[in-house]
Amino acid sequence: MSYLSTRGGSVVTASQAILRGLAAGGGLYVPAVYPQVDLPWIADLAGLPYTARAVRVLSLYLEDYSPREIEGAVAAAYSPDRFDDPAIAPLRQLDDSTWMLELFHGPTLAFKDMALQLLPHLIRMAAEKNGEHREISILVATSGDTGKAALEGFRDVAGTSCTVFYPRDGVSDIQKLQMVTTGGSNTRVIAVEGNFDDAQTGVKALFSSPDFAERMNARGRVLSSANSINFGRLVPQVVYYFSAYADLVSRGDIVCGAPVNFVVPTGNFGDILAGYYAARMGLPVQKLICASNRNNVLTDFFAKGTYSVHRPFYKTASPSMDILVSSNLERLLFDAADRDGELVALWMQQLKECGSYSVGEQRWSRLVEQFSAGFANDRETFAQIAQMHRRTGVVPDTHTAVAARVLDNYRAETGDLTPAVIVSTASPYKFCADVTASLVGRDRVRDLDAFACAEELSRISGTPVPAQVAALRSLPVRHTAVTARDPAAMADAVLA
Ligand SMILES: *Cc1c(COP(=O)(O)O)cnc(C)c1O
Repeated sequence: MSYLSTRGGSVVTASQAILRGLAAGGGLYVPAVYPQVDLPWIADLAGLPYTARAVRVLSLYLEDYSPREIEGAVAAAYSPDRFDDPAIAPLRQLDDSTWMLELFHGPTLAFKDMALQLLPHLIRMAAEKNGEHREISILVATSGDTGKAALEGFRDVAGTSCTVFYPRDGVSDIQKLQMVTTGGSNTRVIAVEGNFDDAQTGVKALFSSPDFAERMNARGRVLSSANSINFGRLVPQVVYYFSAYADLVSRGDIVCGAPVNFVVPTGNFGDILAGYYAARMGLPVQKLICASNRNNVLTDFFAKGTYSVHRPFYKTASPSMDILVSSNLERLLFDAADRDGELVALWMQQLKECGSYSVGEQRWSRLVEQFSAGFANDRETFAQIAQMHRRTGVVPDTHTAVAARVLDNYRAETGDLTPAVIVSTASPYKFCADVTASLVGRDRVRDLDAFACAEELSRISGTPVPAQVAALRSLPVRHTAVTARDPAAMADAVLA
């Protein structure tokens, strides 16, 4: 299978796409065709553990990796000492027609682990396959969760280093502590004086700067990306859509072939895009429901076919979705443009120069056959957390609660009661100040620090405080660097 750039040209292998991260000219790598599966192939997954399901799905995409290589990487990534649930991505039933796919059982308590535990193995093998002997320098811009997941994935992996930029005032206390206490000899964490879009724009500028590449090369280093623009981030995520569906089949909740809706809390459009890939491969997905917070640029896009960043940026209680420029949407646009890279390049140029583009009525109407979209503000999100706890006993994190609220709204508006899976992207303990406040009231948590909130949450929900959170209390802060948000300052910070 070969890979193309969304902005035209560039045919590469899977390992080359993963090693490079971003295509020349700023495009993203996409598979030349979507591998196709049929219902017996899907039904077969029902009898397999997560790791075997992963091997089946990944093998369809990673054609220049041997089956042994894929098996080895999957076994190392999804091992019982890294995930605290033997199912890896367990599916929990909430009511007759609603399930929650829990993607937060990895080392950093967010769904980013699903891809970032695997990616370092894929990158290391890609370097071998392509005769790359320089050190692979991973640069990451994070809205909070990717950073820590990348640091944990790459920490002390030979031949790599990992530098993370995060928005100084844009992440939760636990997220920040998780990052700045990271150990390992090859990790660096740098605060950016700006928001996530500033960090992401800066990192993208470094990736497309020949001058920066040359300065890195002079130090024996080559850049790669662990952000969801890297195809190696996307493909492991396709697996859990198949896995959730296989679980529904194996438990007799649906017959193989029946349609299912997925609702996905969305920021950079990576998670939900993986669901779209699964659907294009033949998984019976009816609607993919894109859930946003108050930064509802995607809700507006799916409502009108116009993407516009002329809007205020809000800091919300679901910070991993505080994004105005959703990078991975470009991969969907490539299909919307009938795979015309020049048209995608034109839209992206309009976005850069004018802050908006429109895909036109006809292309938009095709997109909304597969996608629906909605949003929830913080007040609605907090109310949803309390309501879910009352109704089901389950306490969702703030991002998952956004999705649950959007699903309720979707059902009320459309009457579509198709079985639905809420993709649950983080442990509530990662955002425990807001989650606990939603359950007991702001006043009760006002004077509590993150750890006291976690204790309170444990008491109310009857679940133990995850060991990773408890350990943060005693770990020393190892990373204190701060940089201005312009790319030149960020470049200097990397080279320093
Ligand atoms: C990253 C993240 C999201 C958004 O995922 P995208 O792939 O960027 O759309 C949602 N929830 C949590 C907890 C996250 O960490």
